[in-house]
Amino acid sequence: MSVVDFNLVSKYSDISSMAIQLLSKSDQEHYANLNLKWDGKLIQADAYVVFHCMVRGPAKGGIRMADDVSLDETRRLAELMTYKCALARIPFGGGKSGICIDPKTLSPEARRTLISEYVHIFGVFLSNGTYVPAPDMGTGPSDMATIYGCTHIPESVTGKPPRIGGLPGREEATGYGVASIVKTAAQGILGKDLPGATVAVQGFGNVGKWTARFLADWGARVVAVSDASGAVFMEGGLPIAEMAGVKTLDEVNLPRIDREDLLTLPVDVLVPAAVGGVLTGDVASNVRAKLVVEAANDPTTTEGDKVLRERGISVVPDILANAGGVVASYIEWRQAKSGSLTDKLETYQAIEKQILGAYQSVVEVAERERISHRLAAHLLAVNEVVETMRDRGWI
Ligand code: NAD
Repeated sequence: MSVVDFNLVSKYSDISSMAIQLLSKSDQEHYANLNLKWDGKLIQADAYVVFHCMVRGPAKGGIRMADDVSLDETRRLAELMTYKCALARIPFGGGKSGICIDPKTLSPEARRTLISEYVHIFGVFLSNGTYVPAPDMGTGPSDMATIYGCTHIPESVTGKPPRIGGLPGREEATGYGVASIVKTAAQGILGKDLPGATVAVQGFGNVGKWTARFLADWGARVVAVSDASGAVFMEGGLPIAEMAGVKTLDEVNLPRIDREDLLTLPVDVLVPAAVGGVLTGDVASNVRAKLVVEAANDPTTTEGDKVLRERGISVVPDILANAGGVVASYIEWRQAKSGSLTDKLETYQAIEKQILGAYQSVVEVAERERISHRLAAHLLAVNEVVETMRDRGWI
């Protein structure tokens, strides 16, 4: 099922049926079985590479590595990338990769070899500029370094370590963007400044950790965070800066709560920053936050979204809230192509400019049309993609 409800979007904008047809199917979908003989055993992983729509530029989107990755999920994530880039006015199309294996089962050497195998099979898209991958769940800068080591083309991959052409500020870019949106939406929607606001963050990986870190630095009380191993809670606020170095929350000695209870804590802002589909109808009917900022991709099911809307809980959608990463990736790609150097401040400023600009447009459309922020974001993004299709003579 498409991420965008075209019937609904068409009520507010005249989208041609040809454009809807084009957007309802991926431009390209590729599959490979990655095989690796390792320590006398065979490691196998299904790998999917999906380009949803490349009318606005090279397909952009991270590589997810997890044991529940599927073609359907990769397809949805690629589609989200098309709209995310369009909403942030970044000239990239939407792409995504999924490698179906639990990264924890791989030694660093096996992992490097598996990623090299991925490049061996799909590298043509990276070297001819069709697709520019980046980290997503289960992958990180060192995997991007492996990819760069195979292609030898700096602009073939983003999210690289800064010493090999990665962008200062890229690692924390998504979290910086999410935190900036939380700050702006808390003021605009809840009428609250961050000092005095309470936040719960689900997920303590790249995005969750950095989001919590910036929010705590800017004065918010981050009362709970969770990861796959469990959740920790402190009414007065967690010592987020001291927790930055931990690999999993198992390592910290802080008061615990049930992992799933984090989603229904009485906080001002709930930030899902882990896996998809966690805010189901049932969970949504028990959410006590006043504002949900979707740092994760696709964290709310269709039913969950309906329940949150009916209950008057505002949601800042994923394609807006977590676009900081792709803005930074664009700057890294531009830097690699031009040979210029960028500093961290410039990265932060670009993220704020692109995503807070998009946020204002979404709020204006939502207020004018009396629709949800998600629908307003979809409306703006689809229109932008459709206009590009006209520019290129696709429709
Ligand atoms: P990551 O692998 O670094 O971290 C994922 C975190 O989620 C880990 O802490 C893991 O333990 C935790 N987790 C997994 N299952 C959980 C559960 N059931 N409950 C609580 N925590 C759980 O991944 P990431 O890069 O931080 O990505 C997180 C989300 O943000 C994903 O949806 C991803 O698509 C999205 N996203 C990431 C980026 C980026 O730049 N990395 C950009 C945009 C969107």
